[in-house]
Amino acid sequence: MASRQNPDDRGELGVGPAGNPTLKNGAASMALTEKGEFWYGTTSGDTQAELRSYSIANGHEAVRFAASKCDCGCRSFALQTDEEVGVAIRTCTDCGQQHLMGDSAEYVEEAAPETHECVCENEVFELMSGVSVYEGTHDVRWYYIACRCVECNLVGVFADWKCEAGDAAAFLAKV
Ligand SMILES: [Zn+2]
Ligand SMILES: [Zn+2]
Repeated sequence: MASRQNPDDRGELGVGPAGNPTLKNGAASMALTEKGEFWYGTTSGDTQAELRSYSIANGHEAVRFAASKCDCGCRSFALQTDEEVGVAIRTCTDCGQQHLMGDSAEYVEEAAPETHECVCENEVFELMSGVSVYEGTHDVRWYYIACRCVECNLVGVFADWKCEAGDAAAFLAKV
């Protein structure tokens, strides 16, 4: 399957070859070093605000949002992503269920997901998804995943990618 990512259509933020920092507002994967300004919040609204701010800077404003919740009711997860392929996997810290977020199931076979770690070294987060849509439609154009660290309350966008996933409501029902 060809990659659905069009490099020419990607924003500058968080995009780069291996070795370049892809740090996003203080959110880091394990391979990355601490850098930049960090933002902290206490509610899902804070996380959503940070996601929206990031998305505006990225040129594709997120207009619809959804918080992740496991089937068991738990809201804290470990997160793995592969931004190049467009895959995110959350693992419930309570029941252990793994869930492929959004349309990730379509691309997971070609993915090499990496675990995200906060700058405080915690790996448990509350997750907020947001999408931008094509103008005049409800079709997803860009997907953002923001996290709030349950230990230190850092909030930030941990991953984002161009995403042609169709109907935003259907997509966000699967985050
Ligand atoms: Zn669960
Ligand atoms: Zn933290």
